[in-house]
Amino acid sequence: MQHSRHNKKPLKKFVQVAVPAPLYSYFDYLSPDNADEKTLHPGCRVQVPFGRRFQIGVILGHSDTTKVPANKLKAVQTIFDVEPVLPKELLKLLKWAASYYQYPIGEVVHTAMPALLRKGKAPSIKGQAIWRTGSKPVDPDTEFKRAPRQLQLYRFLQQQDGGASDELLNQQFENWRTAMKSLVVKGQVIKSEQPCLPEAVANAEAGPELNPEQQSIIDTIQSQAAGYRAHLIHGITGSGKTEVYISLAQQVLAAGKQVLVLVPEISLTPQLTDRFRKRLGVRIASLHSGLNDSQRLCAWSTAAQNGAQLVIGTRSAVFTPMPRLGLVIIDEEHDGSYKQQDGFRYNARDLALVRAQQAGVPVVMGSATPSLESLFNCYNGRYQLHTLKQRARSSQTPRIELVDLCKQKLQEGLSPKLLASIDRHLQNQGQVLLFLNRRGFSPLLMCHECGWTTSCKRCDAHMTYHKSRQLLRCHHCGAESAVPHSCADCGGSELISIGAGTERIEQLLQSQYPDIRVERIDRDTTRRKGSLHEKLELARSGNARILVGTQMLAKGHDFPNVTLVGVLDTDQGLYSGDFRAAEHLAQLITQVAGRAGRAEKPGEVLIQTHHPDHPLLQTLLHQGYDGFAHAALTEREQAGFPPYRHLALLRCEAIKPEAGTAFMESARALLNEYDSSGIEVFGPLPAPMEKRAGRYRMQLMLQSHQRKLLHQALQPWTQSLTRLKTGNKVRWSLDIDPYDTY
Ligand code: ADP
Ligand code: ZN
Ligand code: ZN
Repeated sequence: MQHSRHNKKPLKKFVQVAVPAPLYSYFDYLSPDNADEKTLHPGCRVQVPFGRRFQIGVILGHSDTTKVPANKLKAVQTIFDVEPVLPKELLKLLKWAASYYQYPIGEVVHTAMPALLRKGKAPSIKGQAIWRTGSKPVDPDTEFKRAPRQLQLYRFLQQQDGGASDELLNQQFENWRTAMKSLVVKGQVIKSEQPCLPEAVANAEAGPELNPEQQSIIDTIQSQAAGYRAHLIHGITGSGKTEVYISLAQQVLAAGKQVLVLVPEISLTPQLTDRFRKRLGVRIASLHSGLNDSQRLCAWSTAAQNGAQLVIGTRSAVFTPMPRLGLVIIDEEHDGSYKQQDGFRYNARDLALVRAQQAGVPVVMGSATPSLESLFNCYNGRYQLHTLKQRARSSQTPRIELVDLCKQKLQEGLSPKLLASIDRHLQNQGQVLLFLNRRGFSPLLMCHECGWTTSCKRCDAHMTYHKSRQLLRCHHCGAESAVPHSCADCGGSELISIGAGTERIEQLLQSQYPDIRVERIDRDTTRRKGSLHEKLELARSGNARILVGTQMLAKGHDFPNVTLVGVLDTDQGLYSGDFRAAEHLAQLITQVAGRAGRAEKPGEVLIQTHHPDHPLLQTLLHQGYDGFAHAALTEREQAGFPPYRHLALLRCEAIKPEAGTAFMESARALLNEYDSSGIEVFGPLPAPMEKRAGRYRMQLMLQSHQRKLLHQALQPWTQSLTRLKTGNKVRWSLDIDPYDTY
């Protein structure tokens, strides 16, 4: 034994722990007495005293020295893990992210872990327990005459088809375990364990034979040397991008590696997961918002142990440990939902690229409407661009036409031309999809006497009129109120609804076509679990002949029978103050247009606008998305916006506007204390929506040609912002690479 003691590394005295707290650094603790370095790996969770409480943190490293005075040092209390829950590669990514996004490392680490790990649970891959009645015939009323608790439980389980989970039982009963134990002992109830991930499909289905365009992309990607390389597949909807992902994944899986697939919205596209499952025949961990905590932990841990070969998930799936990562796929890379909009404001697409780079594996992104950033990266050679020009299954590209709304007599916002087209397509047994990014019946009510409008008391915004629910609702803060019968200003009794939302369009069309099924698909009509799925089925099957919806309808769905697409309102997007508005509009038009004529029927797309000569619309129409992208990039360059400049946006909100101003002024002054050469500062200015949810909002924008210069100044600045006294009366946050400037 002498030998091994001799070999043992001397234990470093201090453990560096990331604790979830709004502070930028890790914290030093003393190693517990009984610990040796073997049990204190970076990535293991520990419980540490923090302030007056205990916190669960993650070990980042060790050191022989500390700046903490000896009398302040405390010791690690408990060590939870023998093996790191956050492996080295992931810690590296998280440290990078904390520094890039200027966000406290403890919070970053916290965000990356499933909730149960944050609470100290073991990274278990056990499925959840399921309780169900046994097969032995039991007459509950006689059997449990003197055990009312058991009777209750037994009766309840009898009604549960698939058995009941702990979670369900906890919801229904208090202290059910003792009674349940008796039932189990008597064999009247059986406890079993559900596998937490479905097993792999035994016989993978074969796919279609790839067309030459697809094959050449795969050949190009596979011909490259191993290691990191970023690829972007620009291909219209239905051009076969997913087939390319599947083929590439097959190769990587065959080599025993794992594949990470990021998607913007998994609940909207469950077919995609099914498709991967059926075609690849491997165990898939699907991480989505529908999982409960233990299912999430199980999926996460299974992937971490290489028990799942493919992980498919939304934004936060980028943090799943995957020891054999061999390929990263990012579908719909342009989608805004990859950006987290509060707290730790990371962009999962960008982090996935960094992760792939650190792991030395290729990344394949795909979109019908790539972001301008990504196209720019293709033009400058950082990514390799591949295009799919043909639709995989034959169908003509739709005819797109602008409809000038000026001087037209509109019916609830619909032009005579669009109304006539709807009629024609319905007569020809077509299906119609109308797109409007505005929920509710009308965006406001107005007094016909004096012009008073229904505005939100807490926001600079109107309250939307929801007719069927008979209420006014603010879409910014969620405030609701009863529909007024008269004007609050002059008492006038005639209140008119101005403008149209999806509910109004639905009502108009339903009254015009009483015998035809009209389905509205927006957040209001899909609140109930399963309702979105039902509606999408009705849309896909063609039973719903007219579909009215918001951007929910624009994403990735396959509606083979749609022949006419109408985009009702483009003017908002053309004249918005946000630098990404034009890009969003072009993406939206291209995506919804892709919904028309996907199968054998030719499609028609009508875009309503008051500005048919607008250069954006003209370029998009005549030169396609590519032409638009080139023009829009030139505009971005001239205006000094990304990807030509790098942005950081300091936001703050305060109940009193003066408090916001004071904080922003001191933040700006503080910037002068650091080297801010090469950085332009704009503001502080009021946010585009100055008041929201009762708070006044301001912003300060930092801009630079060089990311490095920006980050050099940000680092010391952000850390001293936390010490500003003026910061006590405001909420503030820093957004690196903001997605929008609202
Ligand atoms: P995207 O991901 O670009 O929207 P998909 O990969 O989903 O496109 O393909 C669209 C449809 O065309 C799917 O039904 C798919 O099965 C089919 N498809 C894709 N590639 C081929 C091919 N080479 N031959 C026949 N059908 C194909
Ligand atoms: Zn009035
Ligand atoms: Zn409001």
